[in-house]
Amino acid sequence: MKVIGLIGGMSWESTLEYYKIINELVKERLGGLHSAKILLYSVDFEEISELQHKGKWERLTEVMIDIAKRLEKAGAEFLLICTNTMHKMADDIQERISIPLLNIVDVTAQRIKELGLRKVGLLGTKFTMEDDFYKGRLARKHGINVLIPDKKERQVVHDIIYKELCLGIIKQSSREKIMKIIDNLVKKGAEGIILGCTELPLIIRQEDCEIPLLDTTRIHAEAAVEYAIQ
Ligand code: GLU
Repeated sequence: MKVIGLIGGMSWESTLEYYKIINELVKERLGGLHSAKILLYSVDFEEISELQHKGKWERLTEVMIDIAKRLEKAGAEFLLICTNTMHKMADDIQERISIPLLNIVDVTAQRIKELGLRKVGLLGTKFTMEDDFYKGRLARKHGINVLIPDKKERQVVHDIIYKELCLGIIKQSSREKIMKIIDNLVKKGAEGIILGCTELPLIIRQEDCEIPLLDTTRIHAEAAVEYAIQ
C-alpha cells in the first residue's frame, strides 16, 4: 500500500472527512485491522485565507510547493490537495515534485463521464467558480460543459463556505439558500452539480437533491484509495 500525502487544513473540517473516508475505504477493501498509510501536513488556514483574499497567489504557490516537497521528502508516494480552490496551482506543484499529484478536477471529471452527464453546475469558492483552472480544465481536458451561479449567488456560496462551513457552522437557512441556487442551475440545464468545495458535502447531501451530486471530497478520497492499493 502506497503512502498518501495529504495537504490539508483548508479547512480542517473537511480534512477530517478525508481522513475518515480514506480509512473507512481501506478497511472495506482490505478488511481486518487495515488502515491507510497517511502523512498529513495541515496548515494554519487563517494565513492561507488571508493570502487568497488579498490575491497573493504567487506567494500561495510557493507555500504549497514547499509543503509538497516536505511531504515528498518525508516519504509520501503521491499527493492529494484536500481543497478544490488550491488546485489553482496544482500544475505548478506537480512540476516541482517527482511524485504524482492526484488532481481533484480530473477524478471528478472521470466520475461525471461515468454518469454520462454533459452539462453540470459548479458550486465552490468564488476562486473556484470564477477562475479558469477548474471550469477551463473540465471543458478543455474533459469536454464537460460547466454552468456557474450568477454573481450574487456566487457571493452567497463563498460567504457560507468561509464564514460558516470552514468554522464548523451548519445552518438550515444556508442549506436552503444553496438548494435554491442549485434549483436555478437545474433550470439553466445542469444535469448534475459539482460540490466543488470540500466543505459543501457537510451541508448538502444527495438525499436533499434529485439530480446527481458530485461530492468532490468523497470522489477524491476514493481515487486516493484506489491508487494507494492498486
Ligand atoms: N475547502 C474549500 C475548497 O475545496 C475551500 C477552502 C479553500 O479555500 O481552500 O475549495
